[in-house]
Amino acid sequence: MSAPKGICNKLVEIYRKFLWGGPKQQKKWALCSWDSLTRPKEKGGLGLRDPWTLNQVLATKLRWRWIQGGPDLWKEIWTTKYHMPLTPEEILREQEMPRGSDIWNLTIQNRELIDKHIFWEIRGGQIAKFWDEAWQQREKMINVQDMQEMYRAGMESNLMTVKDYWTEEQVNEEWRRWKPLDEWKRNATEDHKTIFGKEIDSRKIKRREGKDILRWGKETKGIFTIKEDYKAQTQPDQGEEEQKWKKIWKTKWWPKIKMFAWLVGRKRILTWDRIQKRGFSGPSRCCLCNSGEEDQEHLLNGCKVAQLQWEKTRNLFSSTERNPQDIVHTLVDWGEGKFQSKIVGRAWSMTTGFNVWNLWKERNSRIFKGKSSDPEDVWKMTLHQVRESILAENWAEEEWNTSEAEAEILKKLNLDQGMIY
Ligand SMILES: [Zn+2]
Repeated sequence: MSAPKGICNKLVEIYRKFLWGGPKQQKKWALCSWDSLTRPKEKGGLGLRDPWTLNQVLATKLRWRWIQGGPDLWKEIWTTKYHMPLTPEEILREQEMPRGSDIWNLTIQNRELIDKHIFWEIRGGQIAKFWDEAWQQREKMINVQDMQEMYRAGMESNLMTVKDYWTEEQVNEEWRRWKPLDEWKRNATEDHKTIFGKEIDSRKIKRREGKDILRWGKETKGIFTIKEDYKAQTQPDQGEEEQKWKKIWKTKWWPKIKMFAWLVGRKRILTWDRIQKRGFSGPSRCCLCNSGEEDQEHLLNGCKVAQLQWEKTRNLFSSTERNPQDIVHTLVDWGEGKFQSKIVGRAWSMTTGFNVWNLWKERNSRIFKGKSSDPEDVWKMTLHQVRESILAENWAEEEWNTSEAEAEILKKLNLDQGMIY
């Protein structure tokens, strides 16, 4: 069922509170726009469903169920209340739609969307319109290129339904046989025959009796899916960006680190520069080094405390590769690194994630709790977390058979094959 406006607004409010609200119901700042939350993950959003869009989709579904027929009380009520016809084809073709309740209005507003998606599955062929309606999962005949003359001829001969275009001879064959074009079009040229023949021969129809059936969707086998329709209604993003988000969500970090990486990717973590943009004045000094101005890039990348963490990372993994130019690229492009064994690659990408996470935690601990740890201890925390996470993943025995150099890396992480049981 689709929801009235009031419920939609309430849902949006609940989402917002859930994401940005702190304990004791105090309000926190929204870190990202509503649009970015409801976009799909691979398009840089958080993949929440926007109730408004979802509502549209649900109304579409309701109309779809209504057209399909079948005994439901709400359908009877609609039919009576809005003086609507009863059969699927009559509802589908009804032009005069009165206004009514919220749900009703939303449902009839979605008629075009419905029209794009449905087609007739041909049985007896007496219901589906040959030219103006889609059938056999194909586009409408009238929309096929160069079909105008044939369309006019068909109308003049009063041939309307799909059945009108097939011949009743050869009743024992498995497939329907189409009438030759010159049987109903005068002066049909060879060109006409080719154009029409090519299209019509690609539409095969099994010989079956009964009423034609309405189906939904060009891709899914005639069944309505909310997911497919919802995706179609959200806005696209640029291609290279899409890769970035896919990588962030694909990397096996802790969920809260992924969420943090996503905020970093959107340049939305609340460093002093962003707080001041919201009208707050005060110190903007980085509390890790007490010298630089704090912004996202400084805190996680440029700051000398951050630099120390990255240097230790490179040393641990014997990497000579410098960090990418900014923190977002470090998170995204460093990825699994260039290692022969998967397990070392995983340790590398985990270290990247834990580095930014622990820098952020240390910064918050200094600002909000007045407690500071030595940068060496921040690094030790990262090592500890990487080690525990690798152990928790239960790597198969053969994955531990690394080159000597890479075994050395695992040893430095206090990891070796003897640790799996
Ligand atoms: Zn700093």
